[in-house]
Amino acid sequence: MVSRKNRSQSKKLVYRRAPSGRVASIYKGGRAKPAKCGACGALLGGIKSARRASKSERVPSRPFAGQLCGACVRGLVKAKARVRAGAAKPEDYRFAQREMMKSVKKI
Ligand SMILES: [Zn+2]
Repeated sequence: MVSRKNRSQSKKLVYRRAPSGRVASIYKGGRAKPAKCGACGALLGGIKSARRASKSERVPSRPFAGQLCGACVRGLVKAKARVRAGAAKPEDYRFAQREMMKSVKKI
């Protein structure tokens, strides 16, 4: 019977051959959850959802990669440009958006 600690959908059942030759079933840690956008919750593309993947395999090389989806980054860059051009005030945007705007370097 499966022990209590392994009765979870997050555990992954894998089969390994023991030194004696028999095939044993063991439970590996947790499954990796897919990366989601921090602003809207959409699934992020281009990111491998694996626990044992290098940083460069997991995250594309662009601003806010692995944190925000492309649509949210686009909106953020537009907001920053509007504020810089004087078409909008920083107060027109939510606090979280204003904070993220600070880290947008290029327009
Ligand atoms: Zn988003």
